[in-house]
Amino acid sequence: MPGTDDDALEPDAACRRAFSEKLPAWYAEHRREMPWRGTADPYRIWVAEVMLQQTRVEQATPYFRRFVDAFPTVEALAEAERDAVLKRWEGLGYYARARHLHEAAQIVADEHGGDVPDTWDAIRELPGIGPYTAAAVLSIAFGKSHAVLDGNVVRLLARVFAVEKDPSKSGTRRRLRDAADALLADACDQGVAPGDFNQAVMELGATVCTPSAPRCPDCPVQDACAAYAEGAPEAYPHKRKKAPVPHHDVAVGLLENEAGELFIQRRPDEGLLAGLWEFPGGKQEGGEALAETCRRELREETGARVEVGRLFHRLNHAYSHFKITLHAFRCRLAEGSNAPTSAEGQPTRWVAPASLDDYAFPRANRRLIEELEERQERPTLFDAAER
Ligand code: SF4
Repeated sequence: MPGTDDDALEPDAACRRAFSEKLPAWYAEHRREMPWRGTADPYRIWVAEVMLQQTRVEQATPYFRRFVDAFPTVEALAEAERDAVLKRWEGLGYYARARHLHEAAQIVADEHGGDVPDTWDAIRELPGIGPYTAAAVLSIAFGKSHAVLDGNVVRLLARVFAVEKDPSKSGTRRRLRDAADALLADACDQGVAPGDFNQAVMELGATVCTPSAPRCPDCPVQDACAAYAEGAPEAYPHKRKKAPVPHHDVAVGLLENEAGELFIQRRPDEGLLAGLWEFPGGKQEGGEALAETCRRELREETGARVEVGRLFHRLNHAYSHFKITLHAFRCRLAEGSNAPTSAEGQPTRWVAPASLDDYAFPRANRRLIEELEERQERPTLFDAAER
């Protein structure tokens, strides 16, 4: 059964039985309760699957509840302001998911009468719906026979078939997808609902066949698992060596006016963290002192000349493809400076610290705001000594 090189991954009889009988039985007994399980509402299933694309169940659950409380239907989401949608997503990361979900809800409301499309071609037309989300929504909400292939399923199948090649390569991925399709078809022949099968495979990967220390003795497909038979489950999947993660020092300005308000601006509508609010700032350039970075960036981003005060806070933050150390400086407008605006024509605001919670910020900026709140007993941002 184990595949080598580019052979198709052919499930044998033991494998087919394990996935079409033992796995569904295991799932019926061990499935975790989740607020989107047990609903037949395609909208809620869609929201959950979008949240789960890059987020663990435990983290996504409270966000899901708050999101569907705020936007209980496709129409409610379609009619919402984008800022309100981003605010409900704040802290969950990968904000393009929220923007795409919002855009897609508008398309579903306008072009599909509010009904989530139930065919592969139609649902794949929607922004932010890739093969994983399409297969998950179609199978769970509509009982359509499309196998899902998320990271948990890839790891599980790479172990079951002892796949030698890197599963991130398209050829290997295709072999895994074909195997998943074949196993799903078998299970459906045995009367298993496609959505249950897909959720069972994902659940097994998430809770038993974990990246490290898989719980093989508890695994319902153990007798079909080639990696287990080899005695080396954790050796699979074989991974590419990761490139070192780049690191940047970033200086931002907590620019305060005479009224004690802070200047914030909205990020552009495209690109990283699009549409979120932030304190102005940017990356340190070679040989530049961080306070100088702060002064230069505020000049470039807002057109204002600022005096840079003391370092307020420093924190480390990891994004998906790079890491930063964020250095936040207290700032005020220099004598004679013009008022800050956005060089890119983005909306800007002066906001009282207590009202910053009304805006959606990226996580690193939110941590600065939490630090501001923590220190509220202390002198205000600009104490007399610095004036
Ligand atoms: Fe994963 Fe172990 Fe089950 Fe194989 S036997 S699928 S390695 S948990």
